[in-house]
Amino acid sequence: MKILITGGGGFIGSHLSEALLAKDWDVTILDNLSTGRLENVAHLQTHPRFHIVVGDILNEFLVDKLVERADLVFHLAAAVGVELIVKDPLRSLTTNIRGSETVLEAVYRYHRKILITSTSEIYGKNTSSALKEEDDRILGSPLKSRWSYSTSKAVDEILAYVYWKEKKVPTVIVRLFNTVGPRQTGYYGMVIPRFVEQALKGENVTVFGTGEQRRCFLYVKDAVDGMIRLMEHPQAVGNVFNLGNQTEISINQLAEKIIRLTRSSSQIVHIPYNEAYEEGFEDMERRVPDTAKAFNLVGFKPTVGLEEILRMVIAEFSARFSSAGAAPVGR
Ligand code: UDP
Repeated sequence: MKILITGGGGFIGSHLSEALLAKDWDVTILDNLSTGRLENVAHLQTHPRFHIVVGDILNEFLVDKLVERADLVFHLAAAVGVELIVKDPLRSLTTNIRGSETVLEAVYRYHRKILITSTSEIYGKNTSSALKEEDDRILGSPLKSRWSYSTSKAVDEILAYVYWKEKKVPTVIVRLFNTVGPRQTGYYGMVIPRFVEQALKGENVTVFGTGEQRRCFLYVKDAVDGMIRLMEHPQAVGNVFNLGNQTEISINQLAEKIIRLTRSSSQIVHIPYNEAYEEGFEDMERRVPDTAKAFNLVGFKPTVGLEEILRMVIAEFSARFSSAGAAPVGR
């Protein structure tokens, strides 16, 4: 099988590349390196079945050529990270909407199969105890970046679904819930790499808002396993699936856990959302997935818990800091 991964230089794309190469498939990644990093796939670069193309999903000609050569397309390229979306809303919208349309149009032209990655941001402020795929989206004003981002990803889903309904393009939609693990960077706002880095450096751990908001964190290799299983299952076509973990933790508890695991002397500080993001920023109070649909069809089940994930991330950051000569500050 020849696979194209758009956004393959990102943290999730790099783990997906590894898993697909392990299946003896041929993997080409397309990444504009805006948030993706060559460093994420450095260990794969000498692999004979791994190819990197640096380019943009908005480049129709390039996308056309790469989709033509592929059997299956994993479309991961997108604007990621709440902080990035708030800072760069126009580019985020263009990448998500026009970029996805460009990829889908090429997939249609060459009769390929595609898996599109969407996000739990779709559900907006719906705080129900377990979000099912067909549950309502509860959004604020479209003039707030977070909700326009949520809408842009919903447009991606709509496009994927309509290409399936009207043009019979085999599309599978996956909604990822707070996917975490090694290689994720805190640069665009993601909480775990942020807190780990702060704790290892002995800096204040910056909890936004009250810290009572809760999240469920999914190990990246579990997410990748679910994505591959769904791509391979014929009945996943034309459907949307949540992939996430169901164990909740508050951001305050997460900060405490990371400080404990790193044996850091860091203090927790609370920063109002207005300062952390922008005036009028609204957060999700909680976000728990119902993953029964993916479990029932392909047996998707998270296998790695939060503490184990944190230990891996801490080990990665510690190794990076010690090789850079900046010994982590811990007790
Ligand atoms: N967060 C935080 N401090 C940080 C970064 C994030 O308290 O330095 C909070 C953020 O406001 C959110 C949660 O951690 O409530 C998860 O943030 P992330 O950006 O990782 O994912 P989100 O669920 O917001 O997409």
